[in-house]
Amino acid sequence: MAFLPLYVPKILPKNDRLRIVIAGGGYAGMAALTTLRRHNPDAEITLIDPNASHLKVTHLHETFRYPLSDFLIPYTVLEQRFSCHHICSTLATDEATLRRWQHDRCLQAGDQQVPFDYLLVASGARSFVPHGTDKDAVVAAGDTRGTKNTFHLEDFFTISGADLLDQFLAARNAAPSCISVVGGGATGIQFLFELAGYLRRRRINHGLRLIDDRERVLQQFPKGFSRYVEMRMLELDIEFYPGVHFLEQRTDTLLLEDKTSGRQFVLPSILSLLFTGNRQANLIKTNSFGQVVAEGKLLENVFAAGDGSIYSAPGSNTMTAQSAVRKGKLAARNILRHSGVLKVLEPYLHHDLGYVVNLGPEDAVGWLAIENNVVTGVPALVIREIIEARYDLLLSGVDTYLV
Ligand SMILES: Cc1cc2nc3c(=O)[nH]c(=O)nc-3n(C[C@H](O)[C@H](O)[C@H](O)COP(=O)(O)OP(=O)(O)OC[C@H]3O[C@@H](n4cnc5c(N)ncnc54)[C@H](O)[C@@H]3O)c2cc1C
Repeated sequence: MAFLPLYVPKILPKNDRLRIVIAGGGYAGMAALTTLRRHNPDAEITLIDPNASHLKVTHLHETFRYPLSDFLIPYTVLEQRFSCHHICSTLATDEATLRRWQHDRCLQAGDQQVPFDYLLVASGARSFVPHGTDKDAVVAAGDTRGTKNTFHLEDFFTISGADLLDQFLAARNAAPSCISVVGGGATGIQFLFELAGYLRRRRINHGLRLIDDRERVLQQFPKGFSRYVEMRMLELDIEFYPGVHFLEQRTDTLLLEDKTSGRQFVLPSILSLLFTGNRQANLIKTNSFGQVVAEGKLLENVFAAGDGSIYSAPGSNTMTAQSAVRKGKLAARNILRHSGVLKVLEPYLHHDLGYVVNLGPEDAVGWLAIENNVVTGVPALVIREIIEARYDLLLSGVDTYLV
């Protein structure tokens, strides 16, 4: 058992174990699971997630090059690796329900009653969407792909980008036109460049364009990011329509609206891929230690972490894997400390140390240490590889996150 400062476990009666439930097996949930196991080999840990596998979603755009299954780890494997129990279910996480569970110390997952000492809610910022390579789901979805011509991020949870596009194009057999990507945030840009590479490799003769209602891409990052990405888009012949709202993808055209003038206009387009961001409402509020505050009351035994949580603390509340992992680890450490003798908790102070946006297989743009330190090309790709490798190590049980 690895040493955790300020954690002095209570001596429990024989056969009694600390019972911890983690709701959500994404980045925050996995970081919490591995941290709990590291510092308390005996705790009884239950992971509740409606999917059968953990999805390494930060790689999702790469499914234009690799099968989706490369980025899925079945929870059965993680159950064995970290001796926990997975229940396949969706939990309600509204404030009234969390208050009730704090009071009862028992929650309802499907038809099962699950008693707990601590609950960690790490269910992300998207409503639940099934993922995995369930063949039936793919075939069923494939039935509608001939007619459906607008896809969202969630559509890539069940089928690789390459297969989705191949199925769509096979069903359409259209004359050369254009594919539209909507949303110039980090996710939209990563999909856009992967798609550009895929169209080039497969010699698919459709143009590519980006629509964004803001004036520059990657608005949340320093201007150096936008300059670099927009220059690369020009080189790759990707059309860019800034300051424009997407209204509707029709059979062969796209209806748009200029944000300043309100003028509506139509462009040729056979397919729209929408990456317009996460839900920002109903985020779970916590104190600086990760304990949930619901309906104005502090829930001492219910913690939250990840994209779905807002910490009232100096640390970063960005919706990034980096913050999700740090919150998950902090919440896990604080759960253990709270269960111990001292009950001295650690505040959340983490600030993001960098962020890298992939621009296809051979290029990237990012910042490291300070936001204006913009890194591009191979150095940025190397940083990205290191970030992903650290997460892979964490999932294999090796924690390299010193900060
Ligand atoms: C394509 C893409 C690329 C990205 N690249 C980067 C990157 O390079 N760097 C970076 O820092 N961030 C990146 N992000 C953002 C990052 O993935 C998220 O910030 C991170 O996944 C948040 O982790 P989380 O654990 O809060 O939520 P998630 O990873 O979304 O996990 C939530 C989990 O909860 C489960 N769940 C949902 N609802 C319920 C419920 N009601 N009950 C129980 N379980 C539930 C889901 O099945 C899921 O397993 C990227 C995101 C995308 C989509």
